[in-house]
Amino acid sequence: MKVITDERCTGYSEPGHPERPERISSTLARLRAEPGLQIEWEKPGPVEEAVLLRAHSPEHLARLIEPFDFDADTPFFPDIAEYARASVGAALAALNAARRGETVFSLMRPPGHHAMRARAMGFCYLNNVAIATLEALATGTKRTAIYDFDVHHGNGTEAILLNQPGTAVFSIHQHPCYPGSGTRNLGNNCYNYRVPPLTPRSEYRGILTSALEALQAFKPELVAVSAGFDSYARDPLAQETLELEDFYWLGQKLRALGVPVFSLLEGGYSEDLPDLIVAYLKGLQGQ
Ligand SMILES: [Zn+2]
Repeated sequence: MKVITDERCTGYSEPGHPERPERISSTLARLRAEPGLQIEWEKPGPVEEAVLLRAHSPEHLARLIEPFDFDADTPFFPDIAEYARASVGAALAALNAARRGETVFSLMRPPGHHAMRARAMGFCYLNNVAIATLEALATGTKRTAIYDFDVHHGNGTEAILLNQPGTAVFSIHQHPCYPGSGTRNLGNNCYNYRVPPLTPRSEYRGILTSALEALQAFKPELVAVSAGFDSYARDPLAQETLELEDFYWLGQKLRALGVPVFSLLEGGYSEDLPDLIVAYLKGLQGQ
């Protein structure tokens, strides 16, 4: 099991903001103390501008260094462009590890799946999963599927990859909820699965399974996972019902696909996030 991380991603914060450094620091502490996982640690590598520009406009990259908030949820921080690039670097390292046949998780912030081609939003600045998917495509992978189980719609990923040959995007999310999109399928490759608030766990698993079956029908060579843990019953930002063992189950289901999978941390804001991630990793690792 490989975990790509850099503790320096805890270096920015806004008081009271749910996307806080402790999400990473407490998970790191939990993973270091976990006897059940043999973790090999790796740091994110550098990212070339051209790799970012497949998913984002030059204006957007320039905007990331202008000292003004992006929206009410998405503040400007000094060096946020560098933090966001490091998170992309981790996603690319995770892609490479998956291609080598490793079980891998990127434990970084900021998350990415709300970031649009030309706009930061929803705590996200650069779209890690879309950038990694386009990198996979540009370097020989013909069919990549994105499985986004974060409780919020992966609107940025959808917008960037809409009708992109060789990709299919499956997002399972609460509706109504932020950002409000994802109410229907879009184009020829974006599939949205709405889950009403307070959907019982068994039904939620059924919807996650339907999305996985559709993903399998796409016959991907590679699966990129936007792993958000905010569909958890005690998450403060949504109203869903999943428990720890459901994240273990999700890891198992993804492992059972039998193709290379890499997972990137998106949301998850409860105090129990470290335990949810450990459960997911144990499922992914097959134990
Ligand atoms: Zn989320």
